[in-house]
Amino acid sequence: MKITDNIHAIRIPFNLEIAPGKIINRFTYSYLIFGKNICLIDCGISSSKDIIFDYIRKIGRTPDEIKIAVLTHSHPDHIGGAFSIKRAVGCKIAAHSAAVKWIEDISHQFSERPVPSFYSIVEDSVDVDIVLKDNEILDFGNKSLKVIHTPGHSKGHISLFNISDKVLFSGDCIPLPETIPIYEDIISSVKSVKILEEIQRIDVLLSSWDEPRYPDSIPDIFNNSLEFFQKVHNSVLKAMDTIHYTDIGNIANKVIEDLGLPAFAMNPLFFKSIESHIRHRNCKNTLFILIDRTVKYRKRRQDKCRLSIP
Ligand SMILES: [Zn+2]
Repeated sequence: MKITDNIHAIRIPFNLEIAPGKIINRFTYSYLIFGKNICLIDCGISSSKDIIFDYIRKIGRTPDEIKIAVLTHSHPDHIGGAFSIKRAVGCKIAAHSAAVKWIEDISHQFSERPVPSFYSIVEDSVDVDIVLKDNEILDFGNKSLKVIHTPGHSKGHISLFNISDKVLFSGDCIPLPETIPIYEDIISSVKSVKILEEIQRIDVLLSSWDEPRYPDSIPDIFNNSLEFFQKVHNSVLKAMDTIHYTDIGNIANKVIEDLGLPAFAMNPLFFKSIESHIRHRNCKNTLFILIDRTVKYRKRRQDKCRLSIP
């Protein structure tokens, strides 16, 4: 799908077996930036290579023009195809320093974050060639991407802002209300969404788990996601009125019931989100003063580094 003259989106569907015989349909987006060469943002799942390569050929370019694949974070539906794509075209793999460990050692990732169907989504570990930091600029000649560290969903999560076209690639940073909230840390998640919201002008918002969004709906996307954080937090606090905070399973169950989330939300990833709300239980409603415009966010450093991609 063409987003701008140079940016295209590829929707990659996949199935997830969340329990024996219980399969859910999911999708993730990968993005292509066409310039002199091609930059791929996220590599989808293990079988994504052919979908991505077919798309590139269909529009008259060739897969070996991919010189870099930037991974927004280390989760399986973003790194799954990285090994085979790199092997096929020899591109560089770029990711944030905090994501490197889980990308370069998938068995280590699985031991710490046992996602259902993990090994059917990720083909293999892959070496990271370019380690990214917050505020770096990835320069592709006529195109550049600003790296914005947006932890919360995952500590090594980055968003990427294409400065010339005002296109923001937000990975899994911005939650979709009424879906299963998945994050490692709620405070970081709120701050990250706020950092993105403060970008002065976004013409297109490209998330990995949502359809492309344009200026008429982008403010709502930010507001609704922040309100959703608040709603989950309130629900966790309410559950703790009657359930001890160490009983995460029952709190999670209560939150699912309270928010009308799908029953398959009862999984280790959702438990992690609940745990992070419990860690911040003393913040009560004031937790989301963070959502208020009064909070002081970390001082943004000037663009210090510039990485040139051949
Ligand atoms: Zn993710």
